[in-house]
Amino acid sequence: MAEKQLSGQCLCGAVGVTATPARPHIEACHCAMCRRWGGGAFLGVQCGENVVFTGEEHIARYPSSDWAERGFCIKCGSNLFYRFTPANNYSLTAGLFDDTGDLTLGEQIFIDEKPGWYDFAQDTVRKTGAEVIAEAKDAGFEFD
Ligand SMILES: [Zn+2]
Ligand SMILES: [Zn+2]
Repeated sequence: MAEKQLSGQCLCGAVGVTATPARPHIEACHCAMCRRWGGGAFLGVQCGENVVFTGEEHIARYPSSDWAERGFCIKCGSNLFYRFTPANNYSLTAGLFDDTGDLTLGEQIFIDEKPGWYDFAQDTVRKTGAEVIAEAKDAGFEFD
C-alpha cells in the first residue's frame, strides 16, 4: 500500500520537504548520538531516497559517522534528517511535517541506550543496537 506524501518545513521555513514514507510508522532512536544531537530520542519517518527539498542551500550536512550524515537548517538550526548513506535512506524528523496522517509510533531502536528517565507508552517493536546492526549486516551493509 502506497503511503501518502507528506510535506513539511523547518522552523524558519527556509527549508521545505516533500517525501513519501517507506514504512507506515514513525521510528524512535534512543541512541546516545541521536539524543546528543536532538536533545532527546530521535523521532523519524523513513522515506528512502525519494525526498525533495526546497531551500537546499540552507541545509548543512554533518557526517556523524562513516555511514551516516545528519542534516540541519543553517538559519534556524532545525534538525531535518538522518541519512544512512550506503543506502541513501533518509529518515526525516517527524516534527517537520504539518500532518503525519495515519502514522503511529511503530518501532524503537537502540532501546538498550535509552536513559531510565523517560519511556514511551506505546507498545512497539523494540530492538537493541546490536540487533539493529546485525540486521543491517545481514542486509549486506558493512560498518568496519
Ligand atoms: Zn530553518
Ligand atoms: Zn540514534
